Amino acid sequence: MKEELLFHEGKAKLQIIKGDITEQDTEAIVNAANKKLAPGGGVAGAIHRAAGPDLWEECKKLGGCETGQAKISGGYRLKARYVIHTVGPVYNNTPQNARDLESCYMNSLHLAKKKGIRSVAFPAISTGIFGYPLEEAADISLRTVINFIQDNNLPEIVRFVLFGEKDYKVFTKAFQKIISSKDF
Ligand code: ADP
Repeated sequence: MKEELLFHEGKAKLQIIKGDITEQDTEAIVNAANKKLAPGGGVAGAIHRAAGPDLWEECKKLGGCETGQAKISGGYRLKARYVIHTVGPVYNNTPQNARDLESCYMNSLHLAKKKGIRSVAFPAISTGIFGYPLEEAADISLRTVINFIQDNNLPEIVRFVLFGEKDYKVFTKAFQKIISSKDF
């Protein structure tokens, strides 16, 4: 597994890797969920398949999830003990999209903090079926996580898991741009 330590603040560090979110050994993985928290396509489908049917049984009882909010469940057959489900915005090129995407990361990280979770892996929320342009999403996602770990000095690991080479390159490039501008 190609892994890079890219940023750290006290005990907290941010990693960007190429890989599959369902295979991560972090304490929690984040699901780019739909409002019903149901199995579907993309990340949600892959997570539900890997976790097994008990995940959907638990999700049914969580009462759904609004855009930008986050809910937590067990991880069942996954290596991760927890799944944090967050619903990204469906991209329609309005300023609200960025606020909602930021809320996804903030609310997921606050939930992890509340539960004492020390390591969290995120996919690139909203950049698949929900259509968020990757460059813009990478900038918002990385800035939000950097700000959170600077303010909180935790979790110990936040790992962005990008599914393909192109997505990985866009994220690492966006990261380098943010760090070199020192504007975060
Ligand atoms: P959304 O509906 O929020 O757009 P998707 O699941 O369609 O969510 O996709 C979000 C991102 O996750 C996309 O960039 C997609 O390529 C990527 N992705 C899909 N499957 C996986 C996986 N198993 N691990 C990590 N990333 C994945």
